Amino acid sequence: MAECNGDFIMENVFIYSDEFQDYHFSPDHPFNQLRVKLAFDLLNKGGFIRESQIRPPRTATDEEIALIHDQEYINAIKQAGEGKLDKQSALQYGIGTEDTPIFANMHEASALLVGGTLTAVDYVLEGKAEHALNLGGGLHHSFKGKASGFCIYNDSSIAIKYMQQKYGLRVMYIDTDAHHGDGVQWSFYDDPTVCTVSIHETGRYLFPGTGAVNERGQGAGYGYSFNVPLDAFTEDESFLYAYRNVMHEIAAYFKPDVILTQNGADAHYYDPLTHLYSTIKIYKEIPKIAHEIAHQYCNGRWIAVGGGGYDIWRVVPRAWSLIWLEMNNIRDVSGMLPLDWIEEWKDKAVVPIAMKWEDPDDMYKPIPRKKEIEEKNYLTVAKSLHIIRNNMKNIIY
Ligand SMILES: [Zn+2]
Repeated sequence: MAECNGDFIMENVFIYSDEFQDYHFSPDHPFNQLRVKLAFDLLNKGGFIRESQIRPPRTATDEEIALIHDQEYINAIKQAGEGKLDKQSALQYGIGTEDTPIFANMHEASALLVGGTLTAVDYVLEGKAEHALNLGGGLHHSFKGKASGFCIYNDSSIAIKYMQQKYGLRVMYIDTDAHHGDGVQWSFYDDPTVCTVSIHETGRYLFPGTGAVNERGQGAGYGYSFNVPLDAFTEDESFLYAYRNVMHEIAAYFKPDVILTQNGADAHYYDPLTHLYSTIKIYKEIPKIAHEIAHQYCNGRWIAVGGGGYDIWRVVPRAWSLIWLEMNNIRDVSGMLPLDWIEEWKDKAVVPIAMKWEDPDDMYKPIPRKKEIEEKNYLTVAKSLHIIRNNMKNIIY
């Protein structure tokens, strides 16, 4: 694998603002952007970010948001954020629900998350940074005219359209959130210049219910949409077996110009919303493989965003820090987390806060169905690989 410019001739950038906290549904809502601050603070206190690498997000314009969303929907979000949208209309746009409640200034807060991802894109594609990370983004469920699953504007979809239009590039989107990356998939379902790959817990019992292996794209986009649905209770080895095999083959097949990774951190055993049984180990490997692909095919061009992740005290800060550490070729962290980070946050945490980079060995009891689950996943991966290899045969370069 080609290494990054270790001398920081070209810096990696970390997009950050405390204003990311303005994307806030309610105090007891599972989606809590405090996790972005927790990750940022963990990296800062560990001495892993230089001041010169931190960049503020810009606010996306209506025109940019309209690359994906209907103007009518954007207007509705603005009205809702000013308390001027009636309940009935709100529901038509997927807001005012238990999942995606209305909050003050929701347009401005959402446009900042989108702008953060676009800022990351511009740094990388203007050649001013090799890799860029916007943990405020990754809202992969929203659609053209409808909010869904905590997501108002789909920053990844917007960023992909933006990369196509402004830079004319072929984009590979890699989504490792435990939920299917449906919003992004449907945005580019008929587009052969965007390859979407989502690895997630099967939609059999989990929102949004889609993401089956046979969702492969349509029309000209047929063969450019990939899904790897894993069985509930999938553990590290099986998750990583699927991820490694499928990503490398798809990258070889599609040969992207740039990759955008969505890094939901909700496949962890502690996550309260999903049923996968991974540990922090997968969050070390996921960015590593993305990093390899970026250097192998994209001259390093890699933009990463956040996503889901609902255990904000034990899982997300560590998982998201590991993306930044991988970007900067720092792979030797272990043992205790920075003590002043633990000190700062332990009393605010609602569960005993993470103390170490590693998870405890005895985090959960062995799963009796382990073998059966692994076999099921093995078959799912075999199906995906078969599809990829068939696609390859049909491609004329
Ligand atoms: Zn998720």
